Amino acid sequence: MTTRSAQRKVTILGATGSIGASTLDVIAQHPDRFVVTALAANRQWQALLELVARFRPAYAALLDADAARELDVAVRREGLATRVLAAAEGLSEVATLPEVDTVVAAIVGAAGLAPTLAAARCGKRILLANKETLVVAGGLFMAAARDGGATLLPIDSEHNAIFQCLPAGYHCGSAAPGVRRILLTASGGPFRVTALSELVRVTPDQACAHPRWRMGRKISVDSATMMNKGLEVIEAHWLFGASRRDIDVVIHPESVIHSLVEYVDGSVLAQLSNPDMRTPIAQALAWPERIGAGVSPLDLACIGTLNFSAPDPARFPCLDLAYAALVAGGTGPAVLNAANEVAVAAFLEQQIGFLDIASTCAETLSKVSAHPVDSLADALEADLEARSVASRLLKMAARPRLSA
Ligand code: NAD
Ligand code: MG
Repeated sequence: MTTRSAQRKVTILGATGSIGASTLDVIAQHPDRFVVTALAANRQWQALLELVARFRPAYAALLDADAARELDVAVRREGLATRVLAAAEGLSEVATLPEVDTVVAAIVGAAGLAPTLAAARCGKRILLANKETLVVAGGLFMAAARDGGATLLPIDSEHNAIFQCLPAGYHCGSAAPGVRRILLTASGGPFRVTALSELVRVTPDQACAHPRWRMGRKISVDSATMMNKGLEVIEAHWLFGASRRDIDVVIHPESVIHSLVEYVDGSVLAQLSNPDMRTPIAQALAWPERIGAGVSPLDLACIGTLNFSAPDPARFPCLDLAYAALVAGGTGPAVLNAANEVAVAAFLEQQIGFLDIASTCAETLSKVSAHPVDSLADALEADLEARSVASRLLKMAARPRLSA
């Protein structure tokens, strides 16, 4: 008979999002194993109130102070005992509570960096979805996790697959012995076979209609441009101690193989499952044990065929931009990430076209030079500078034509 670890107390940063919902779904299936101690989000207080009423956490935190006040009033009105915290301090507090052992980092964008870093410094078990933390400040974050004694468990599906294919006992942050290459799979997104001439006209809703995964809007656009895979190359570099040359990308439209590890003897190990984030989340929540995720079994006979192809750099220039940023090193990836966040937000608000995302990122990278990252301030300064350069470029891209 196997012995089970004690009930885990969990904080979810980004509780109202897509990863937050999948995490709560898995937790709700295992009330004997997990307690939700804290839930945090940006400003959606009604959505957070519903979760508070259902999961009864000891704490809830919202970045937006006005929304936190609204939540606090509603929580008292409903007679709930949850303590409501606000602002960046509130988010960092719930990420570092002494009674919490597991922090799910599922805020979208560079905004996730500060509380995730705080959790790393406190030695938490961190289930990492927020890849931007590693892109913006990978070296600092990995050092903080090492020094703080944190355990990193990737839940981005590709990195979780790689983690599962690495030798038993492997811990993130170092190169695993015997590994020759890491192969990230990419679905190719909604525009994998769209005529290149059509891309200039595609809408945010088309970009967010991912053929395999249902995700938040920012990562959905990143999947359409393949910036997501580029950010994941950088994420893999930090998590698995792999150099740029040892990380490759292959398009696999069925999204059944979530990534592969090639060993020096020629063996290639892969992790397969239906495309449902509850599988990697359950794997990380229970690690090193296994629990049910509510995901239907994989029916290979029904799937029949799996396809693979090399990414086309003309269709997906963002992938090469990410490799270039990784080679530039230092603040290069933070600059790329900031430009991308600004451009994707403008695209989602229909201020710019789809193709302007890649051109804005390329131009921002060429205008903002990379510097070493010795402190969080270095990374945040580069992030701010890149946001301001990208915003200026976007205003020019969005300017209406004065004459026909
Ligand atoms: P989402 O947009 O659905 O949810 C984002 C969450 O972050 C929400 O709870 C929102 O309130 C919160 N948030 C946003 N800005 C914030 C801020 N400034 N401060 C505090 N909270 C803030 O996003 P998602 O799809 O769940 O993705 C979350 C993260 O997980 C991203 O980094 C994404 O790249 C990564 N990821 C997502 C998936 C997926 O399937 N959705 C898969 C792999 C990795
Ligand atoms: Mg992924």
